[in-house]
Amino acid sequence: MNRKILVVTICVFLLLSGILVRAGGEAINGRKSVGENRDSVDDFNGTINIVDNPYSDIDWDTINSYKSAFHVHTTESDGLSTVEERIDEHKECGFDVLSITDHDTRQIPNPTWPWSDFNTTLEEDWVEEYNDMEQSAFYSELGENGMLAIKGNEISGSAHIGSYYNDAGWDSTILSRVIYSLRNRLPLPHQQTIPHRKIFPAEDKTLQYIDENDGISQYFHPSIYDRSSEFYIDFFDEYDSALGYEIFSSDDGETLRYGEVRDLWDDLLSEYAPDGRQIYGWANTDVHESGSEEVNGAFQLVLAENHSEPGQIRKSIEKGRMFWVANLATYETNERIGVEVDEIKTETEDALIEVNVTGKYEKFAWIYDGDVIAEGPELTEGDIASADAEYARFEVHETNTEAVAQGNNIEGENALGSQAFYFMDEDNYEEETGKNDLPGLTITPLFLSIVIAVAIYMKRYNF
Ligand SMILES: [Zn+2]
Ligand SMILES: [Zn+2]
Repeated sequence: MNRKILVVTICVFLLLSGILVRAGGEAINGRKSVGENRDSVDDFNGTINIVDNPYSDIDWDTINSYKSAFHVHTTESDGLSTVEERIDEHKECGFDVLSITDHDTRQIPNPTWPWSDFNTTLEEDWVEEYNDMEQSAFYSELGENGMLAIKGNEISGSAHIGSYYNDAGWDSTILSRVIYSLRNRLPLPHQQTIPHRKIFPAEDKTLQYIDENDGISQYFHPSIYDRSSEFYIDFFDEYDSALGYEIFSSDDGETLRYGEVRDLWDDLLSEYAPDGRQIYGWANTDVHESGSEEVNGAFQLVLAENHSEPGQIRKSIEKGRMFWVANLATYETNERIGVEVDEIKTETEDALIEVNVTGKYEKFAWIYDGDVIAEGPELTEGDIASADAEYARFEVHETNTEAVAQGNNIEGENALGSQAFYFMDEDNYEEETGKNDLPGLTITPLFLSIVIAVAIYMKRYNF
């Protein structure tokens, strides 16, 4: 055999084996595939690390919680209240933050922005811009504390996606309309096709567009698509701006519009914890009906120092500093659920996590993978170890209910829930930290191999 070919072959072989070893190292380090067992806390030794706590770095003495709505409709798509009425309804119910998310199906990307187009008397205190586009605005005249408006819409393609702080949506150019009408005549699978977008054609392109344009997103009512948690993993892995999904959707304040997906959420959290990214849960009304009580059935409480300061609410959303609230029992009369979280302390004398709550409640449950692993506002290392839990989230219910367990609907009651806390046992923590060096170690033999191969080649052929 020609020696030149032989040497080149050896070089290629070394290069490939180096890449494979490196890939192996990253697989150990990275997120494992669905169903594969992760490192567990079996070997509990008394020290469990909280590796992710969305509520860390909060000054509980000065923090405020802002009542926020992220999924509502007006007559600009298929809702029954005008934009002006919808804003007023939220103002009446004490909302501090509102994103109107009409469908993008009228060939206008953001049909309800800016608000001043619909109420010319509104005066903005400030507007915030990303990519030279107006993306949020503050109105001190709206509501007791003023109201923050966030540009948003509901991308209504293969899946409905709540899109914020960007202009993703229907493109009204002639070309895209032609493409839309042509594509509609082709037998394309519905689930993967958004034929009419400037960001056509697929769901991942939508998320990519939002990602690249400084937006953020959440999946709306995922239960109607009959998708397993596996379906979402590639999207959540790929796009950091996809923050999570609607785990609760109340619509008319009495009934659940599309059921709930807390079980789907738990599946994904089990998959990502303890060393993966966070997936946030949102409670939304998806209100279409008109009337103040309708907008009060569900909301997020976003924790921030001051929502009238540019960027604060967005930062809190991205960090997951929020609680989801189902407000079905008292939505007609109360502005808020009676229960409030005053402080979340970690590593106290008695517990790993301790929650200070005011207001009357009947059930406080810590949930891992759809099961209640502890009751009461304290979660101990023992609770975590005996449940072999890699994360936990809490739910506080005003009535003594069975609805805390996986798959059980919250119907006609009030509940407040947290985002997830991720845990790692001390041994696994050290092990994981050690594993982080693996890719570096495997690069060294790869480069050594190449250098040696090239040296042999050069010596042999007298370069
Ligand atoms: Zn929808
Ligand atoms: Zn909707």
